[in-house]
Amino acid sequence: MKRPQLSVVVPCYNEEACLDMLHARVSAAARDAVGDSYEILFVNDGSRDRSWQVMQRLSAADPHLVAINLSRNHGHQLALTAGLDLCAGDQILIIDADLQDPPELLTEMRATMAAQGADVVYAVRRKREGESLFKKATAAIFYRMLDRITDTPIPLDTGDFRLMSRRALDALLSLPEQARFIRGMVAWIGFRQVPFVYDRHERHAGETKYPLGKMIRFALDAITGFSTAPLRFASHVGLLLTAASALLVLYILVAWLLGRAVQGWTSTMLVVVVLGAVQMFVLGMIGEYLGRLYVESKRRPLYLIADVAGPVQGHASLGY
Ligand code: UDP
Ligand code: MG
Repeated sequence: MKRPQLSVVVPCYNEEACLDMLHARVSAAARDAVGDSYEILFVNDGSRDRSWQVMQRLSAADPHLVAINLSRNHGHQLALTAGLDLCAGDQILIIDADLQDPPELLTEMRATMAAQGADVVYAVRRKREGESLFKKATAAIFYRMLDRITDTPIPLDTGDFRLMSRRALDALLSLPEQARFIRGMVAWIGFRQVPFVYDRHERHAGETKYPLGKMIRFALDAITGFSTAPLRFASHVGLLLTAASALLVLYILVAWLLGRAVQGWTSTMLVVVVLGAVQMFVLGMIGEYLGRLYVESKRRPLYLIADVAGPVQGHASLGY
């Protein structure tokens, strides 16, 4: 079978009120961009409303639409992964179901991709309409904090709304980790990635499927997946404490020499201060090893090759 030129992947959780409009607008945008050579994948992430029934009805009438029903609610990032695993297109558009991200931008995103020779065009939100101050503030803080503590530069104010090339998607899918923070993983794979600025709209219908609890879990996945900074915290405190305790030890000994110390104070203080520092230091060392162990356990590929010029003599298999 020939690959479609474009796959549109949409994770959906309790989005029955959005699906008809979504299907119409995505289909029109896809048709505008690539004619008949597209597929749309709706992934039903264990919705409790009638989303699955709506998807079945839509897909019965439209051969371009593939509806996928997950066994339960696995969460946004895993629903998205399921769709990405199953799609076949040469270019892949990831978009939310609620039409906050206008599918009509597809044409411009494809133009940007072609003009800049990019593998990823990621959409950066300039404005966010119809979202609570709390949501906007937490999101702004989250992206900035993430940027400071992670080793991979992850673009600010960027969701999963993006256009990817097939080789970028294959690279993404070669990351086998369980806790998936996809926008970070895409940043990690490299290749040429360019921003595309847009205004985020209000939800078409329904309300956010990211209540505070899910937002916190999402943030924790992002931080722990892309940074061992929290683990290394003990190292830093340990170092600080060791330095401080050296000064304290000096002070305690001087007080003892001058005869200012109460009986027993000197030995007690020495034990407390030195042991505290040693313990923190050792905890920090354990943190360093644990951090490395954690990085190893993700089993990410060691490197990804973008291009090769000239014949490869060794065993290198490029895969894509
Ligand atoms: N979503 C999902 N599973 C979940 C939560 C959300 O598939 O457990 C989908 C949801 O249907 C939407 C996208 O993820 O297509 C983003 O969710 P939402 O729009 O509610 O997030 P927000 O825009 O408020 O951050
Ligand atoms: Mg939304």
